[in-house]
Amino acid sequence: MATISKSIQGGEFLIRDTEAQDIFIPEEFTEEQRMMAQACQDFIDTEIEPRVEEIDSMKNPDLVPSIFKKAGDLGLLGITVPEEYGGLGMSFNTSMLIADIIGAAGSFSTTYGAHTGIGTLPILYYGTEEQKQKYLPKLAVGEWAACYCLTEPDAGSDANSGKTKATLSADGKHYLINGQKMWISNAGFADLFIVFAKIEEDKNLTAFIVEKTFGGITMNEEEKKLGIKGSSTRQVFFNDCPVPVENMLSERGNGFKIAVNILNIGRVKLGAGVLGGVRGVTSLSIKYSTDRKQFGVSINTFGAIKSKLAEMATKIFATESLCYRAGQDIEDRMGALAAEGLPDAEAKLKALEQFAIECAIAKVHGSEVLDYVVDQGVQIYGGMGYSADAPMERAYRDARISRIYEGTNEINRMLMVGMVLKRAMKGEINLFEPAMAVASELTSVPSFESIDASELFAVEKDILKKLKKVFLMVGGKAAMALQDRIEDEQEIMMNLADVMIEIYAAESAILRAEKIAMKNGEDSAKNQIAMAKIYLYEATDKIEAAAKEAIVSFAKGDEQKVLLMGLKRFTKPDFINVKELRRQVADYMIAQGKYPF
Ligand SMILES: Cc1cc2nc3c(=O)[nH]c(=O)nc-3n(C[C@H](O)[C@H](O)[C@H](O)COP(=O)(O)OP(=O)(O)OC[C@H]3O[C@@H](n4cnc5c(N)ncnc54)[C@H](O)[C@@H]3O)c2cc1C
Repeated sequence: MATISKSIQGGEFLIRDTEAQDIFIPEEFTEEQRMMAQACQDFIDTEIEPRVEEIDSMKNPDLVPSIFKKAGDLGLLGITVPEEYGGLGMSFNTSMLIADIIGAAGSFSTTYGAHTGIGTLPILYYGTEEQKQKYLPKLAVGEWAACYCLTEPDAGSDANSGKTKATLSADGKHYLINGQKMWISNAGFADLFIVFAKIEEDKNLTAFIVEKTFGGITMNEEEKKLGIKGSSTRQVFFNDCPVPVENMLSERGNGFKIAVNILNIGRVKLGAGVLGGVRGVTSLSIKYSTDRKQFGVSINTFGAIKSKLAEMATKIFATESLCYRAGQDIEDRMGALAAEGLPDAEAKLKALEQFAIECAIAKVHGSEVLDYVVDQGVQIYGGMGYSADAPMERAYRDARISRIYEGTNEINRMLMVGMVLKRAMKGEINLFEPAMAVASELTSVPSFESIDASELFAVEKDILKKLKKVFLMVGGKAAMALQDRIEDEQEIMMNLADVMIEIYAAESAILRAEKIAMKNGEDSAKNQIAMAKIYLYEATDKIEAAAKEAIVSFAKGDEQKVLLMGLKRFTKPDFINVKELRRQVADYMIAQGKYPF
């Protein structure tokens, strides 16, 4: 178990180098974790896969609830719920692994995520002992289904502005909830609603545990959606819904904090939750491109198709690497805080809060890789990609929601930069010293340290160090130039977010490939090494473009010139033959007939 002093702090990847042995990689999951993942895969193969059409048609209202109950029987709904409350009490990164596998379940992955994440966790982390005893055993086995009612017609991204009210009854025994919630996943069959409402004229929301049988709850028909059609999404109306006062969750006015902290978990799990889907789409694309012949040959003999397949794999490899790295860092921090004497729930929440930056990165990276992969999947299928009779059409539609919920990607981008700057101001991350060092480096003569290029990833790590300098240079200067106004310069915030995301993803991919090479030898890891190199090559370009845009947006005259020169110095790629590396990766995948990493 990592100790706090040694382990990396959330957001510190921007200023600290990490060694390969200090990150967790998915290749290190234990036999027990793999068995759980296999049970989950078997569940998808038997319960979901044969009924995908039926699930999405929503013609049989009992189908999804019955599949949900089967997931409960297998223990899949109580992965992180402690055994004393009827769950399996497994670790945080195991729950990431299960979210990953369930990601291949289309609509059901939203049903699953809404119940096990935002539906159950508020009680697990904020409930009183009585509330936990009363509700968690039912939720952990799927006897009850949960949903989470935060969004309202006029309160989406601005979630704390909701109008739903909770008024204390004359006898002081109940809160009467009145208001309208929108886009509520699982609402159609939920037994328990986590509801956010304001008491009197409070500034902040308060959370309540609401049982369906309390009364006063009505709902609209199912929303007609672009994708995830088999997941229930409804508007929910609360009309004098009486909630016993003891069903308040945590304290009055603490609801927004609960919502934010629970969303941190949702975000990092959404990153992992795309993985099952993208691996499936890539494997299907490999198979289709082998079977589909044009000009007398399989279409995956063409370089244009190979490059797509390799690109899909490279991006997936990076998402996997960063999600499980973040997941384990969070888990280790949870353990370290608990070992320091913090109560279990508090330790977990604090750890998640500390890694909120990485959670937001996982959400944005994962959801954008998902959209990239399904888009290329459609393209590889050609006309068949556009047909509802082939699997890509549904994957393409289902994917699109991920950039919208759990906080839109715009909101998450702004959050991650805002958090880094705030932590730097508070002195929690020492950003300013390294930023000053980079600033003085800009006006000094560049040093030409020689790098031992024969050492695996020596060149790449040197590039990575420089990319971190780009963030420090641009972020530092932008923060100084704009001060408090930086939050209003959203375009620059988005540029900085892109720089952060690419640094974290590239570093995670490199460290994972290095760790695999350390364990199995460089030759066995040659495709992972190739993907890490390709990823960094592309990330360098993206970082340069984003940073350039930021610089010309806030700096003028000589300062702009100095910054642009610095940028050029810090974003020199290693001119590797990406075409050949992509061909190598694609040929390996084609030979394996699936995404094999
Ligand atoms: C299928 C589905 C399931 C869902 N499930 C749930 C659920 O179970 N429970 C629940 O509570 N909610 C749920 N939601 C709601 C979801 O979380 C919201 O849709 C999401 O937070 C965005 O809010 P909004 O739709 O009001 O968009 P808006 O907030 O109106 O955003 C519209 C656009 O404006 C941008 N924007 C908004 N504010 C800013 C800003 N300050 N700066 C820059 N850009 C901004 C957004 O990024 C977006 O591009 C679900 C939504 C869908 C579609």
